[in-house]
Amino acid sequence: MSKKKEIDDRFKKFGTVSFTSVTRVNDFIGYLEQGKIMGTRCTSCERLYFPPRADCFNCLSSAMDWFEVEGVGKLITYSKLKYAPVGFEDDLPYCIAVLDYGDYKVFGRIASEIPEEEIQLGMELTTEANELPNGQLNYVFKKP
Ligand SMILES: [Zn+2]
Repeated sequence: MSKKKEIDDRFKKFGTVSFTSVTRVNDFIGYLEQGKIMGTRCTSCERLYFPPRADCFNCLSSAMDWFEVEGVGKLITYSKLKYAPVGFEDDLPYCIAVLDYGDYKVFGRIASEIPEEEIQLGMELTTEANELPNGQLNYVFKKP
């Protein structure tokens, strides 16, 4: 009798190119399919993590809950890319950015529909689930 090993590789559905297809935080993709951007919260010390982590580096606990990234974050830095890693060349040019949500920060990409001249440090943006033309999923920063 052959026993096939089941590999939980749901992260292969994330982003233009997948970097981490096997991880203990695969539920992130299930939530993303429902339009929710989720991070993890340590249930012992309350620290919030985005991207989600399965282990807390603050108190070393592995007891994690999920929380939803909602509301607006403040744009604290961004950069327009004219050169991209392998797999992202077709998306150029695009802006990568960091939103500050207070207790955590979210690194991601500014939606291409926001013109570059409207992008300003301190502006409020939301983090939204996004389906790419090839069916892959990611999230982008949009105007609230
Ligand atoms: Zn902790």
